Amino acid sequence: MKERIEKLRERFAGAGVEALYITNPENRFYLSGFTGTAGSLLLSLNNNYLFTDFRYAEQAAQECPDYQVIVTSGECSEVLREYLTGEGITLLGLEGDYLTYNQFQILKERLDGVELKTVDGMVEELRARKDKGEIALIEEAVRLADEAFQEVLPHIRPGVCEREVALQLEYSMRRMGAEGAAFKTIVASGYRAALPHGVASSRIMAPGDLVILDFGAVYSGYHSDMTRTVVLGKPDKKQEEIYQLVLAAQVSAIEFLRAGVKAQDVDAAARSIIEQAGYGNQFGHSTGHGVGLSIHEKPRLSVKDQTVLEEGMVVTIEPGVYLPGWGGVRIEDTVVVQNGGCRVLTRTPKEELLSTA
Ligand code: ZN
Ligand code: ZN
Repeated sequence: MKERIEKLRERFAGAGVEALYITNPENRFYLSGFTGTAGSLLLSLNNNYLFTDFRYAEQAAQECPDYQVIVTSGECSEVLREYLTGEGITLLGLEGDYLTYNQFQILKERLDGVELKTVDGMVEELRARKDKGEIALIEEAVRLADEAFQEVLPHIRPGVCEREVALQLEYSMRRMGAEGAAFKTIVASGYRAALPHGVASSRIMAPGDLVILDFGAVYSGYHSDMTRTVVLGKPDKKQEEIYQLVLAAQVSAIEFLRAGVKAQDVDAAARSIIEQAGYGNQFGHSTGHGVGLSIHEKPRLSVKDQTVLEEGMVVTIEPGVYLPGWGGVRIEDTVVVQNGGCRVLTRTPKEELLSTA
């Protein structure tokens, strides 16, 4: 924790900011270990403060040995002024991406005389590169999703409702130790498989359907993210063909992925294969995204992202092809970037289009 705080301190001091006020829950957890749901951090050049209310006083004292815990009875901003004045701070960095307009107005009024500057992405950039402990937690979140998939696979059959499958996946992950689902589980069958984010609906699955299952687990705050596409019955030629195309694109990106390459070039490694087959317009989203304390975080493996990937970044690789009226295919693994290559954490096989009925 101390190392993270010092790295951040170097960064905000370098940006000319005298102190940083952290309100984003994931950033707060990353920098303090605090698991409560209400509180904020103030990091000055010399001190670390955690503001929270009576409900979390004891918990914060236990979880955050690197912080002076300040118990507040109302808005944190009331006492914030006192500490800023105490340290003679005149320029405070804020997370503009996470403050509401009203919260900002209140801060502006209460902190009259203190210049406020938004410094977005600073903590998120640190979070992009995971340490060994974080990778181990993501690995466990991946394992929970992999095992839940094995358990639920036999129940993905014609006559079953998409929501029932989503519920079983979530139940299975929770029973095995997950804190919860990483996001609203996607079960998109038949024509709905053409919806890249087809959250499970009341649709009853039918013979011949392609079914996209996109889900993940949360373990100790860290997320996993995987997608498999299955077919209910014997696949037809086109289903096989599109599946193998998406697989080739996914494998191509994984083979290209290593520390030192640009995010956009990983995207291109997958996208070029789908484009060459004539389905470029049917792959309208990014090839992947960082995953960690948030389900979507830096870097983005998109056409535009020029981030140079570093060892320890954890990303998803998830190309897809979606044909309105017909359905779609997506394959997604969670992967750790390493020097000279990468390590695929997701273990569920993907080499063949899985038939479940
Ligand atoms: Zn996903
Ligand atoms: Zn994803």
